[in-house]
Amino acid sequence: MITSTAFSGKRYAVLGLARSGLATAETLIASGAEVFAWDRQDVARDRLEGRAQLIDPLDLDLTGFDGVIVSPGVPINSHPIAAHAEKYGVPLIGDIELFAQARAELPPHKVVGITGTNGKSTTTALVHHILDAAGIPARMGGNIGLPVLGREPLAPNENGVGVYVLELSSYQIDLTRSLDCEVAALLNVTPDHLDRYESFDHYAFSKSRLFEMQDAVHFAVFGVDDQPTRAIMTAQQARRPAGRVASIDKPAIADLQHEWPSLQGPHNLENTAAAVAMVEELGIPRDRWRPALASFKGLPHRMERLGEHQGVMFVNDSKATNQASTAPALAAFPADPRPRIHWIVGGLAKEDGLGECERYLGNVAAAYTIGESGPRFAELLAGKVAVEKCEMLCEAVRRAISVAKPGDVVLLSPACASFDQFRDYEKRGEHFRDLVAALADPEHGEISA
Ligand code: ADP
Repeated sequence: MITSTAFSGKRYAVLGLARSGLATAETLIASGAEVFAWDRQDVARDRLEGRAQLIDPLDLDLTGFDGVIVSPGVPINSHPIAAHAEKYGVPLIGDIELFAQARAELPPHKVVGITGTNGKSTTTALVHHILDAAGIPARMGGNIGLPVLGREPLAPNENGVGVYVLELSSYQIDLTRSLDCEVAALLNVTPDHLDRYESFDHYAFSKSRLFEMQDAVHFAVFGVDDQPTRAIMTAQQARRPAGRVASIDKPAIADLQHEWPSLQGPHNLENTAAAVAMVEELGIPRDRWRPALASFKGLPHRMERLGEHQGVMFVNDSKATNQASTAPALAAFPADPRPRIHWIVGGLAKEDGLGECERYLGNVAAAYTIGESGPRFAELLAGKVAVEKCEMLCEAVRRAISVAKPGDVVLLSPACASFDQFRDYEKRGEHFRDLVAALADPEHGEISA
């Protein structure tokens, strides 16, 4: 695990002892800090029995504390811990801030920070994959993979290079104060998570802080497709020397996209162009990154090709929880001949209307509406495409399979959160995978990959 003398003799409260909270408490204890830790669940608290004081920080006088560490899942806009920490003037921070503070004592390394409304995980995994393929020691962390503090410090290669590739949600950025990424990317900013922010502008401001924390000589790359991202780029250009800010250059690599089976669609061109700008900044030339793009396998639940059954392709894009991420899914299939899409849509809506999805309805053979927002989608789509009101995912899959013809695609890309019917988007995607397997091949429960 990562430890640091920066924490020794200090006093911290840790609220929430799931994966990253527990790793944080372990790091602080091993670094010689005094730790007060709390989780609603006693099983979580038990793991620190005898090593930390198990007290809810809301019941503590926080005078003299050096930080209150919360998990990014805690809604600090409404949770009382924010006002409590503020009352005592104690910083409210997350594990990424502790990582930033521990950096000075880590072996030589660089940090890549990736944020945006959509595409973070894909881009993070892609940068990691390219570095790995180029023989550079690299580790993924932040919003993806294992908690960064819980792992052994990254050993650099003989040239002293090792790279932490961090996926950073706006919640994590809100809890970070001093992370100076050598390389950072902002892919896009579109409406999302508005339950956690006062307004869309506040959400965009949260993203901008990742770039404000960077030293002006460090590198940042920005998407060009939405106004808030362009505004953040302009502000960064004003405070940095020439060449330290770049825009994501999709046309420069568009003619290579046919080489990348797992990076299809306009959104993946954006992610890939961002990844290329970042790895080139880290010294990886075109002849090294080009083969790595072709061998990238993609991530589950993001335009994941589950397989084909009787000529029908099944695609799991359960991670598409807003319209901005579903629109490119509807546009992602090659034009010649463009397959007809059986689109499964609905869940817990984050916004009203069809947004960007409306542009691509010409690719949709029929929509199968599910979940809480199903009736609303049925209303919005009526007269534009054929609509089957299904409510349940199993019903949608059953009906789509019964009408899909060879060459068609059955696509789960719900444009909604999953919490109305599932624990999370992963459970929704797994359920889809199981249903497809069972309905396509009832005897063996399998489809060909
Ligand atoms: P994040 O980690 O930001 O949620 P993911 O890489 O997990 O992003 O992708 C989430 C969803 O958004 C998937 O449905 C994916 O197909 C879609 N998506 C990926 N990249 C982009 C992008 N650059 N713009 C819009 N949608 C995207």
